[in-house]
Amino acid sequence: KARKAALSKAGASYNIALQETEKGVVTRFPPEPSGYLHIGHAKAALLNDYFAHELYKGTLLLRFDDTNPSKEKQEFQDAIVEDLALMGIKPDKTSYTSDHLETLYQYCIRMIKEGHAYADDTDQETMRDQRMNGIASKNRDNSVEQNLAILEEMKIGTEKGLKNCIRAKLSVDNPNKAMRDPVIYRCNLLPHHRTGTTWKMYPTYDFACPIVDSLEGVTHALRTTEYTDRNPQYQWFLDTLKLRHVHMWDFARMNFIRTELSKRKLTKLVDAGTVWGWDDPRMPTIRGVRRRGMTIPALRDFILKQGPSRNIVVMDWTNFWASNRKEIDPVAPRHTSIDVKDAVKATVTNGPAEAYIEDKPKHGKVPTLGNKKVAYSKSLIFDQEDVKLFKEGEEVTLMNYGNAFVRKINGSNPITDIELELHLEGDFKKTEKKLTWLSTEGQELIKAEVWDFDYLMTKDKLEETDNWEDFVNPDSAWKVDALCDENVKDLKQDDIIQLDRKGYYRVDRAATAEKPLVLFGIPTGKTK
Ligand code: ATP
Ligand code: MG
Ligand code: MG
Repeated sequence: KARKAALSKAGASYNIALQETEKGVVTRFPPEPSGYLHIGHAKAALLNDYFAHELYKGTLLLRFDDTNPSKEKQEFQDAIVEDLALMGIKPDKTSYTSDHLETLYQYCIRMIKEGHAYADDTDQETMRDQRMNGIASKNRDNSVEQNLAILEEMKIGTEKGLKNCIRAKLSVDNPNKAMRDPVIYRCNLLPHHRTGTTWKMYPTYDFACPIVDSLEGVTHALRTTEYTDRNPQYQWFLDTLKLRHVHMWDFARMNFIRTELSKRKLTKLVDAGTVWGWDDPRMPTIRGVRRRGMTIPALRDFILKQGPSRNIVVMDWTNFWASNRKEIDPVAPRHTSIDVKDAVKATVTNGPAEAYIEDKPKHGKVPTLGNKKVAYSKSLIFDQEDVKLFKEGEEVTLMNYGNAFVRKINGSNPITDIELELHLEGDFKKTEKKLTWLSTEGQELIKAEVWDFDYLMTKDKLEETDNWEDFVNPDSAWKVDALCDENVKDLKQDDIIQLDRKGYYRVDRAATAEKPLVLFGIPTGKTK
């Protein structure tokens, strides 16, 4: 409801702009195929999808903004297509900025011919300095012929061409620095993943985006607010080239504490082996959070609830995972695990002579999830952590079983084994301890690796002056070996369960005869 309200409020103001457009609404999601999609991209994609499809029955374009061969790869492009599908986003059309390279080149020639662009071989540092201080480049007033000749050198990538870039002749000293003669073309000799070595120079985002938006029929360009300064520049290109107008719509970037969302930095974590890959459960990628146990409905809901607000906030992960908990709790079957390290053997002195099995519900409150088999016998195991707190003579409750007296405790630090005496007619409401346990007889206990994860960064929010690599958490994944009840044999990859008294887990790998079950802990939004 909150999400609907926020969005329809945005929709209402959106509508005002819409009256000017005769055709339907056309939005676009323009990722650069230079990494896997992260949760920030998910926000951009979902908002575009929402405005195009849910609010207006319009058209959503997916456009790969692929004009920098130094960063882009087919692998990333394919992953983006898959991840959008996973999120239930269906673009009506897919295009590539690289399909427009010839057209963009022609527009660049026109810009030069009409006196709106010039070639510049000023070195990067000087250029930055001059832009900062409102100083004109020495090349600003070169002739059209000179500029066109250099453009041709750039096009074939000659030594001279490589020293140059093309800049829009917009302003030298506009108070808005985005208006100070932005670069519109630069050379790159690396092969492009779609166009190979056809091109040696590529348009910048600033130049390509307004033109391609206009040519592809985009009516509303949604951009994150860090582009707001560049909006007048975007409009200037459309005006100068007499192209169809496009409405701009700014929304806030989504940020999270202890999380880096820059693709450059995420790439570095992957390449350095700090994480296992783009789909590492600690990564803020769509694949990462899914592997950690986030469900798609919860992800969509969480993001759309943020709505199109323009206030940049750094979010806590608490609500993110709390929205997931609501989704998974009613459908997660309950299982039991005991940590292998220092597991305590218990002998039930008055236990059953023979092990036996009973059917018990997989979820106490959701009978539709069906039953599981619980084994009972004289031989049980417990977690050391629990037994450490036992006192001889104390009455405790064994979950799914009943009460028992602790009769004997052998060993200390660690305790090795104990003796219990069942007291099944005892009142479980009167005991302090409700315990998980497993019978070592009557079932085959299943080995499991149980993983838990921490944030990748050690500081909530980095300052401009912080070197981010100094704050990468060196210790963010832990594994515990455990034994589980036999029922977990049937679990499949991606299943979500709850281990009694331990938490929610996603199955990262099913158990096989050779290999243990692999479980990843799912945060619940509550701090441990
Ligand atoms: P990076 O700076 O890490 O390279 P990017 O923003 O350049 O990321 P793109 O592939 O160009 O990555 O982004 C595609 C779309 O997603 C853009 O519209 C961009 O504004 C949006 N986007 C990127 N990061 C976020 C974020 N954290 N929150 C919301 N939208 C985002
Ligand atoms: Mg970008
Ligand atoms: Mg970027």
